Amino acid sequence: MKIENYKTDREIEITPSYDPWDPIVSLREFGRHVLTSVEMTVTNLCNMRCEHCAVGDSLMLKEPEQIPLSVILNSLDQVENLRTISITGGEPTFRKQTVDEVIVPLLQYAKARGVRSQINSNLTLDYERYEKLLPYLDVMHISFNYTSERDFHEVGFARSGHPVQEEVAKRMYFKMIENSQKLSEAGMFISAESMINYRTHDKLPQIHRLIREMGCQRHEVHPMYAADFAEGLPVLPLEDMRTAIHSLLDARDPDLWMLFGTLPFFACNGEGEDAKLLRRLRQEPNVTVRNDPDGRNRVNVNMFTGDVYVTDFAAIPAFGNVRDMRLDDIFAEWLNNHPMNQKVNCHCDAAGCCGPNLLVADMYYKDIDFKSRKAITL
Ligand code: SF4
Repeated sequence: MKIENYKTDREIEITPSYDPWDPIVSLREFGRHVLTSVEMTVTNLCNMRCEHCAVGDSLMLKEPEQIPLSVILNSLDQVENLRTISITGGEPTFRKQTVDEVIVPLLQYAKARGVRSQINSNLTLDYERYEKLLPYLDVMHISFNYTSERDFHEVGFARSGHPVQEEVAKRMYFKMIENSQKLSEAGMFISAESMINYRTHDKLPQIHRLIREMGCQRHEVHPMYAADFAEGLPVLPLEDMRTAIHSLLDARDPDLWMLFGTLPFFACNGEGEDAKLLRRLRQEPNVTVRNDPDGRNRVNVNMFTGDVYVTDFAAIPAFGNVRDMRLDDIFAEWLNNHPMNQKVNCHCDAAGCCGPNLLVADMYYKDIDFKSRKAITL
């Protein structure tokens, strides 16, 4: 594997002006969507069972053998324009063996190749397993939707199937905060994501303050994805979501980078409240809106089967396997021929928009044909 010859953009710092996960970056560079990002599901084990878990139905208590790491590394090696990788679960660090034998080698590969890396973790386990990632990792992505340990207990174990003691949840909550502070001090970039849903929409300013106190460098905000465990939860009306975002923008610390993603507001919705909000988001300092990478510049690879999906939520069946196809070819097939992609694969460059996330479109815009629309507010 010749990794020393790859082009690198590692010298560019990840800031509000440069977000290599945003598909608009590669779309502008190549003039078409290109596979620049690969997400890998490294485990289906997790020490929590959150109420809203978008991969909840895939979680297990015991899991099978993974396919050899060399197969995955080879297939990453064949992705011509790889810029970012993401490692996800379950809780990726649940087993120490996964950290040592899968995660660290993947991060080492990425670093050597000049590819940016992210891991999605709940950060509730012992510090040592996260500390091992420090020399290689670009972004530690955590979920934070709580105003106290009580919220954490209620939300984080809602789907456990058995009662989890308050004391146990409390210890994990404070461990997560302590880990976040320690890792930040040690130089790790921690991005805490909060979802906007029926529980959090009126508490976002408090959640934001805690994220600040945890030492995080970025606060990400996304609507809840109505997938898996979250499928039956109440859908927040768009009006409440707009109000929640305005209240957060009013109360936020303007020095902390805020990244909004998979928003259900589009520049083709016409003048009105959406346009007002989009303008505000564009004008606020240190605020960015990321286009959704899933299926635009990214695919998800399941490391147990080699199956390739458009998202780790797996609501859409796999459309290829790394054992018998190159990832670039699987992606091209999705891009050009998959009927689901044809529904949302729009692009209005002046608005910096490349269409809605599939789940968000399904939640809020069931009968809208985005391909026939154009941005009218900028
Ligand atoms: S890219 Fe699609 S969703 Fe975005 S403004 Fe244009 S038509 Fe609307």
